[in-house]
Amino acid sequence: MNFDTSKELFDQAVKVMPGGVNSPVRAYGSVGRTPLFIDHAKGSKIYDVDGNEFIDYVCSYGPGILGHAREEVIEAVQKAAVDGLTFGAPTRRETIIAEMIKEMMPSMEVTRLVSSGTEAVMSAIRTARGFTGRDKIIKFKGCYHGHSDGLLVKAGSAALTSSVPDSAGVPEGYTKTTLVALYNNEDSVRELFEENKDEIAALVVEPVAANMGVVPPKPGFLRFLRDITAENGTVLIFDEVITGFRLSLGGAQQYYGIKPDMTTLGKIVGGGMPMAAYGGRKEIMDHVSPVGKVYQAGTLSGNPVATAAGIKTLEILRDDPAIYDRIDASAKKIADALRKQGEKSGQPIWVNQVGSLLCAYFTKDPVVDYDGATSSNMQAFSDYFGYALEHGVYLAPSQYEAMFVSDAHTEEDIRKTCDVLMHACK
Ligand SMILES: *Cc1c(COP(=O)(O)O)cnc(C)c1O
Repeated sequence: MNFDTSKELFDQAVKVMPGGVNSPVRAYGSVGRTPLFIDHAKGSKIYDVDGNEFIDYVCSYGPGILGHAREEVIEAVQKAAVDGLTFGAPTRRETIIAEMIKEMMPSMEVTRLVSSGTEAVMSAIRTARGFTGRDKIIKFKGCYHGHSDGLLVKAGSAALTSSVPDSAGVPEGYTKTTLVALYNNEDSVRELFEENKDEIAALVVEPVAANMGVVPPKPGFLRFLRDITAENGTVLIFDEVITGFRLSLGGAQQYYGIKPDMTTLGKIVGGGMPMAAYGGRKEIMDHVSPVGKVYQAGTLSGNPVATAAGIKTLEILRDDPAIYDRIDASAKKIADALRKQGEKSGQPIWVNQVGSLLCAYFTKDPVVDYDGATSSNMQAFSDYFGYALEHGVYLAPSQYEAMFVSDAHTEEDIRKTCDVLMHACK
């Protein structure tokens, strides 16, 4: 395969943008390459500027559950665009999508639309603090909730209770109130609640952790989080930016049968346009301005074109619930093929799969948390990634991203993918 045009474009891009990209995960540094520049995409396929065709499992890191450029969605976007791109005033579609969200996720009684997942989680946490009158929050090591200051923390090395910024430019004061627990580790959560009695405003969690590869919650873990937050008057926030409308129409909360107090959405909810949302119990959301005293605003929030794409995407998912059976079955086929390859060859491969999300780690031990995820052999991942790319399978250039299966992936795509990835493991 020839990547000359991408390389030329990359040389130009690095001169005017940090690392040549507008989001660091798009850089290919960790796999020792330079990124492909994309020309267009349709269905399950993505095409770079050198004319190479790939089966796409990045799906824009989650939004593409229907595949690329689905006709009905494009048509809805075109129709909306003709009527004007933004007004700074209410439109019908904002209410329609808020109603659809409530119908699909009954815990979201009241919703505020925003433009990115980062904004959604940042605002949900502010609301939880305003509601409880408390400052501290708990997050989990390895879970990602966007790049707002207070959430870019890593656990301090000494005690779990001291967290430090995980990015330059974040003042220590901003992360003092963020406590870090360990995913799938009930004791680490219990300890934080005991040491910070009546001080914890919110606990935020990815119900399936999908930013350290894919790590499912252990049986009972989400129920435990529901119970301990309820006992302590703490707002339970499910960050469903990835899992919302992906694991089921009602997201992870429906999939696992656990009802959070607040939920954040992104990725799929905008159908490929920049849109996200946060919401929850009316009693909590009534604290958001202009009703309440928690300030939060956005010039492009509830954008008319983005709501058009979001509504059409949710309609398609709602009207064809068998989509979830299809994409889950496709993901399972890939996971099974990789596991079989591991058994046959004796290579250390661990595969986690939940619904249409999956991730292969190059380690023998079960991956149940961040330390497990980071034990994967990075050179093996890099080789695997490179082989897949050269053979027409487009994966995220990072061990810590999920593979996203869409409804546009055909049986033929899945068969070819299994074949390529089994070879890629060698
Ligand atoms: C992607 C993601 C975010 C951030 O969303 P952006 O739209 O990139 O700001 C937040 N939480 C989770 C779980 C995500 O996967």
